[in-house]
Amino acid sequence: RVYTQRLADEFASRTQQSIAMAQEQAQAHVLAQAVAQKTQALQAALSEVNKLNLELSKQTITDSLTGLFNRRHFDHLLENEVRRAAREHRSISLVLIDVDHFKKINDTYGHPVGDDCLIQLARLLRHIVRQPPDILFRSGGEEMALLLPGSDCAGALVVAEKICSLVAASEFCYPAGCLQLTLSLGVGSLVPSLSTQARELFELADKALYLAKNGGRNRVESLSLGNREPVDWG
Ligand code: GH3
Ligand code: MG
Ligand code: MG
Repeated sequence: RVYTQRLADEFASRTQQSIAMAQEQAQAHVLAQAVAQKTQALQAALSEVNKLNLELSKQTITDSLTGLFNRRHFDHLLENEVRRAAREHRSISLVLIDVDHFKKINDTYGHPVGDDCLIQLARLLRHIVRQPPDILFRSGGEEMALLLPGSDCAGALVVAEKICSLVAASEFCYPAGCLQLTLSLGVGSLVPSLSTQARELFELADKALYLAKNGGRNRVESLSLGNREPVDWG
């Protein structure tokens, strides 16, 4: 009888152990599920934060009217690309693009039409320009800039002339009609040395733009430094 009782006790204790283990396993399963759910929620939140961060950094470098890169990004990339061209002993060109008599467009047709012209101009430029390697910016009010890493003056002139003639031949339409625009473009080119400052390239292009304006507008002028062909000792 004692033996039977011991067996019964042993059985009862094992049964309890099994129940306790099953309960523990069930709890562990519930916990694992909760952890998995929380992990999933965290991952979703993290990817949302990443998306927002990306959107934010895109916004900080983009001009909201035209969708082109903004002035801040222009300054940043101009520095970077001039330095890179110096390291690689390559040419770099900058084209400054300024709408002619844009104030008159605003005065005649109103500011919203002026805005619309800038949007259409940016769209047109995007079609003409091969991005990358070339990069488009809205560098100021009615001014756009085109940075051409690796292009010498002759190459940049081809692009600038194409932009100038295409825009002059285009119509810019707004709800009540269409109008025409012309551009003045200044091309600056150089082969930078390691001590060349980005603003030297900007100043070249800006001086060239001044020449284009003074020369009667709707034209391209260029200025270059150090764009000599390599000497052929052959
Ligand atoms: P120029 O041929 O010498 O370049 O003459 P311009 O009239 O184009 O040059 P000016 O610098 O006298 O005037 C630029 C005008 O561009 C004045 C300004 O109100 C206008 N502008 C600048 N930013 C914007 C903008 O975002 N939208 C509109 N609609 N106009 C703008
Ligand atoms: Mg201007
Ligand atoms: Mg202008």
